[in-house]
Amino acid sequence: MSKKIIYLDHNATAPVRAGIKEAVLPYLNSAFGNPSSIHALGREAKRDLERAREQVAGFIGAPLTNVFFTSGGTESNNLAILGAARFAKKKGKGNHLITTAVEHDAVLTTCKYLEQNEDFELTVLPVDQYGMITVDQVVEALKDNTILVSVMMANNEIGTFLPIKEIGTILREKDILFHTDAVQAMNTYDVNVSQLPVDLLSLSGHKIGALKGIGALYVRSQVRLHPLQHGGEQEMTLRSGTENLIGAVSLGKACELTAQDKKEKRDQLKQLRDCLWKGIQSSIEDVSVNGAPEARLINTLSVSFKGAEGEAILLALDMAGVAASSGSACASGSVESSHVLEAIGLPEDLAENTVRFSLGYSTTQEEIDHVLEILPQLISRIRLANG
Ligand SMILES: *Cc1c(COP(=O)(O)O)cnc(C)c1O
Repeated sequence: MSKKIIYLDHNATAPVRAGIKEAVLPYLNSAFGNPSSIHALGREAKRDLERAREQVAGFIGAPLTNVFFTSGGTESNNLAILGAARFAKKKGKGNHLITTAVEHDAVLTTCKYLEQNEDFELTVLPVDQYGMITVDQVVEALKDNTILVSVMMANNEIGTFLPIKEIGTILREKDILFHTDAVQAMNTYDVNVSQLPVDLLSLSGHKIGALKGIGALYVRSQVRLHPLQHGGEQEMTLRSGTENLIGAVSLGKACELTAQDKKEKRDQLKQLRDCLWKGIQSSIEDVSVNGAPEARLINTLSVSFKGAEGEAILLALDMAGVAASSGSACASGSVESSHVLEAIGLPEDLAENTVRFSLGYSTTQEEIDHVLEILPQLISRIRLANG
């Protein structure tokens, strides 16, 4: 356990940020109150919960009352989609949903669930080779009974940014609800809902260095949702259950710290990612990058190493103390091939040759240099073994 791991898997989860531990420590000790209690301990808990909400709201430019804590990105996506779709359908507004082929499973599977079980219609928009869709595609897919469109802000596997602002502008004119999964964008991209025509926006704590099991959903003021959980009516009845105070505090703090890093370290992060790609390109043959060349998350590098099994590369990297991830779904370590790589039209064998490197603010030049030092030999060894 002596060797330090070079962690290039930030899109799966980020290390808990420095400063979070200190921020949450009181809640493991004396600050254990229930925010709903009326005594002093409860009032303190409530105050701290609301301070955390302020930090999250500030981070995305939202009014305080439009931010709701959830258990993470998955729940935020479920609450947004199930909640908005069921409410609109009940009101007789329609039953047609639109999403894209590259969404996270928390969106895609949720939409498919509604299609299969609750009498909704679903259009899944195909993407181009970069994982992009056009505004025209959305417009052409609209029907009289369309109630909700869900398009992610940036893709977790290949990093491509989708045209959220343009899509949202059209949908707002037509009075159709718009949800975006912004989980991966929050770390490096400035998201401000006061300037973004979205009705619902999901974020997740552990992708920006907060604890796991906390997230938030932004809900624009006029938008109504059916809750998924019923009970004590916490979170303005949208999310019953005693609040995850320690998680919320960690998320608030992580938002503050991430805003700082975005200002100070963003350029350096992109430089490191580009350095990794240039190094790979110049030292290894038959490599290609997946995702949009420019409109792409600055920390993300999805590379296909022709003729080298991604799983084998990951194992070899792991043995060398480098943590990365395959193009495959991260779902419980399953080796199911990636629906995103399939959607961008990558041939199956090339999809299986794909590795995702995702950097973070703690990544150093030395770490990238080290990876570039070991990678060429590692790849040629695997290519030889693969014949
Ligand atoms: C990680 C991730 C999620 C799920 O968030 P959890 O907090 O792990 O449930 C949703 N969407 C995207 C794009 C993600 O990267």
